[in-house]
Amino acid sequence: MLDIITCKILRFIGSKFGRGSSLPGALVRKIWPKCMASIKLPDKVIAVTGSNGKTSTTAMICRIAEENGLKVVCNREGSNQIEGIATLLLCNADPISRKVDADVVILESDERFCQYTFKDVKPSHILITNLFRDQLTRNGHQEFVKGELQKGLPEGTTLILNANEPLSCSYGRERPDTVYYSVSAPELREHAGIEHAYDDGAYCPVCGKKMEYDYRIASHVGAFHCKKCGYRSPEAAHSVTKVTNGEFVLDGEWTIKPQIANEAYAQNIAAAFTVAVEAIGIEPEKAAEALDGMELENGRVVEFDIRGHHGRFMLCKHENSMAYNGAISTALNDPAEDITIVFIVDMLSRKYVANDMSWLWDIDFNRLANDKIKKVILSGGFAHDAAQRMLVGGVPEEKLIVEPDLDKMMECIVESAQGTIYTMTCFTDQYKFLNRLKNYEDKGRGEGGDR
Ligand SMILES: [Zn+2]
Repeated sequence: MLDIITCKILRFIGSKFGRGSSLPGALVRKIWPKCMASIKLPDKVIAVTGSNGKTSTTAMICRIAEENGLKVVCNREGSNQIEGIATLLLCNADPISRKVDADVVILESDERFCQYTFKDVKPSHILITNLFRDQLTRNGHQEFVKGELQKGLPEGTTLILNANEPLSCSYGRERPDTVYYSVSAPELREHAGIEHAYDDGAYCPVCGKKMEYDYRIASHVGAFHCKKCGYRSPEAAHSVTKVTNGEFVLDGEWTIKPQIANEAYAQNIAAAFTVAVEAIGIEPEKAAEALDGMELENGRVVEFDIRGHHGRFMLCKHENSMAYNGAISTALNDPAEDITIVFIVDMLSRKYVANDMSWLWDIDFNRLANDKIKKVILSGGFAHDAAQRMLVGGVPEEKLIVEPDLDKMMECIVESAQGTIYTMTCFTDQYKFLNRLKNYEDKGRGEGGDR
């Protein structure tokens, strides 16, 4: 009882000082190391882990559950290691009965920390979105992460896996009750001839021989099969089967409007839909209804207007290629004839000091060597590293504007942007753009307001 009360008090005090949500759980676990094991959880405890798409997919699952009248407890603030999850569960538990007051608990979980978190808290289902190169300095290679995550998959927990991502999908080989989801829409398949910066799908993760793909969606995600050992994309329970007019069709039946109709959103939506239907037991029609038109509140995409140019801010992640490649695809698929790219790399992490820029070479910046891309504005402390990468990728030098100073970057945008602007950066650097944008943004568009 004291552990729960202490955690609630610490959380209350912390919130007054704007402190994060992991400290109370960390302190309580020091005094009562086994406090989480005796918490009574509802039958449905869904963990969401993987390299990419955790936060967005978690938000989608919460939305579906809540729209369908379920009470959800979720670590939406994003503290996804054991301390944050301890704070969440203790603060939502009754001190006497130790029961968490929820129909469903949804836990976004760091992929390397599942082995600690799920010792005491056993999820009924674990969704693994994918395993990708991500934060090399912190995580190492994705095959190392695969081994670490393997230690955090309890027996008896049902896995929900991406049938298109060979590395994380291979967890299901020994677990017959695994459920799979996929993206099979022909419209989202990569065109032949796209040259990727790297290929982590070249070899079979099971036998090490050459892997074949019927098609790819992004990077090593696609419909794969190995001729040597027979490992292949398993049959999916649910799938994004078609894209028409910017809308996704789920299982060939339900049409929904996504915030962005790109391959990353399609995978997240297929994942959230599958969790809702298979793990929570929501009717497919109701799950689709809740996803229709959903806009993520965490500012992943911000539309703006600056000096008559329309722009889209796309939140990506440094030290990771997937979101940037998705943002590049979205820009290239934009119907606008002229596109300006603004790319900001100033601070790699809020948590640790790093200046490893090898990840820049993992992003398909060569695709920006496209006639549609008129200007590429590079800013932040690593602007010159980015410029070097772009040049090697074949982006013509005359299109590059290198301006490390962030204030001057805004002037460069005003003076040089052509067509629609796509700004991409990480959450560590997002406000360096978004805060400056406020001074330049066109207001009252179309309503006769101040301009
Ligand atoms: Zn094989």
